[in-house]
Amino acid sequence: MSINRTMSENTPAEEATATSSTSAATTMPAESTAVLNALMEGNRRFAHGEALHPRQNPTRRHELENEQHPGAVVLSCSDSRVPPEIIFDQGLGDIFDVRTAGEILDTAVMASLDFAAEGLGVSLLFVLGHEHCGAVAATRQTLEGTVTVGGSQSAILEQVGLSLRESQNNGENTADAFERHHALRIAAEIRSRSRVIDDAVRNGKLGIAVGRYLVTTGDVELLQK
Ligand SMILES: [Zn+2]
Repeated sequence: MSINRTMSENTPAEEATATSSTSAATTMPAESTAVLNALMEGNRRFAHGEALHPRQNPTRRHELENEQHPGAVVLSCSDSRVPPEIIFDQGLGDIFDVRTAGEILDTAVMASLDFAAEGLGVSLLFVLGHEHCGAVAATRQTLEGTVTVGGSQSAILEQVGLSLRESQNNGENTADAFERHHALRIAAEIRSRSRVIDDAVRNGKLGIAVGRYLVTTGDVELLQK
């Protein structure tokens, strides 16, 4: 199934699932749920060694020569082990990627996310952290005084450090917990910083999901949708 939003159709069952979901403060729109399901199905294929590598042939490339209609924008860590198209088993034109070390935010990242939501009309914003994240580990070591990181990388320490302290204040003390809390906090900050994205969520045009990729198993654990 393509996550291209112009190609996906929701079955009545998917509509019912979407409308009955009340786990989040804002119910995810049916179209966003369909895109999320396609990503998670692709991840299951990838994790089980059954990736289809869809929509990566010359035909697809030609279809996209003059347009793109990705279903999702994914903000993920730049880690070389976490490329969204591969771990979600997607193809050309499916995912608008924004990647920074530790999935941190700045003006360029926010502009890219806003462009995806408003200019491309994606249905889903997926914030993807991951297991064994070097940015989280380095931040923890810096706060513990065992590593010194300076220069422009202080931006990583500031943003991941804020997540880490919040997590510690919640009584958490493991890298797993820090990585989960950081991705969740980044998602919340995106919505609070972007009027475009907050409006899209309120108007039922955009859903936000948060997950953490496990480098040890290939699975994405869904933390919020
Ligand atoms: Zn990372």
